[in-house]
Amino acid sequence: SIHKDLEEKIARFHQREDAVLYASCFDANASIFEALLTPEDAVLSDDLNHASIIDGICLCKANKYRYKHMDMQDLEAKLKEAQKHRLRLVATDGAFSMDGDIAPLREICQLAQKYDALVFIDECHTAGLLGPNGRGTDELLGVMDKVTIINSTLGKALGGAAGGYTTGPKPLIDLLRQRSRPYLFSNSLPPAVVGCASKALDLLMESNAIAQSMAAKTQRFRSKMMAAGFTISGKDHPICPVMLGDARLASVMAEDMLNRGIYVIGFSYPVVPKGKARIRVQISAVHSDEDIDHCVEGFTEVGRKHGALS
Ligand code: PLP
Repeated sequence: SIHKDLEEKIARFHQREDAVLYASCFDANASIFEALLTPEDAVLSDDLNHASIIDGICLCKANKYRYKHMDMQDLEAKLKEAQKHRLRLVATDGAFSMDGDIAPLREICQLAQKYDALVFIDECHTAGLLGPNGRGTDELLGVMDKVTIINSTLGKALGGAAGGYTTGPKPLIDLLRQRSRPYLFSNSLPPAVVGCASKALDLLMESNAIAQSMAAKTQRFRSKMMAAGFTISGKDHPICPVMLGDARLASVMAEDMLNRGIYVIGFSYPVVPKGKARIRVQISAVHSDEDIDHCVEGFTEVGRKHGALS
């Protein structure tokens, strides 16, 4: 019953008809395309979608189109090409975790409407933290009624360190319960994880204070870091990639930050393109203003020491 309660709560949180739980969002993404699409259909996927979406698409027999990252002209061209298929599904991350950029969902939904396509979003980096009530990208951009399918994780903002889900129209969720291989042939979530996620959703639905504080904290960190002379990729997202370019610089600076008790992660090739190494900072609801200022001071000192700032 706690699993069923959580599914109902997830659907209510996203204002959808029903939801189904998975052991992870990787499983939800591995399942959805194969269960839904046939060789007569088409899937159109952003170039930089998460690996689990790419793997999920590989598992299905639909016709595959890749459009350039957030490029609406290219998406439109691919949608025109895909008119010959029975059904079209546009698939995008709501926010892209390496760059902290947010999908142009309004434009995607307009194109989907024009070319009779469904929209799927992966909300792993937005559910619980973006939008006035933390509902995610569709709430932030005012298109909650235009996105058909949402997959997301319980392992990030929703706190349980594991678990994933699909939420959307009831007939789709019914279909997944009959056809989704990771749902049918794998264990369900451990009860402790279910309890934790359920509480996280209660907190988010009781008040929008947490979601609102995320926007303010993100803005504080991004603006102070930019004033200090750093380049922060993306916009308005609590994932704040501090762009450094050089892989070794990112690695030694992240190490120095850790020595100061600040846990931030350096990323370099092959996780991100060559020459685009960065330190990814993730702002959390439990960070205080003092924590954020302390982090900016740390970056400023460490950046000066290693020549990233003059
Ligand atoms: N989708 C995106 C965009 C992610 O960032 C991740 C995890 O890193 C996943 C899916 C997979 O989520 P999970 O850890 O629940 O399998």
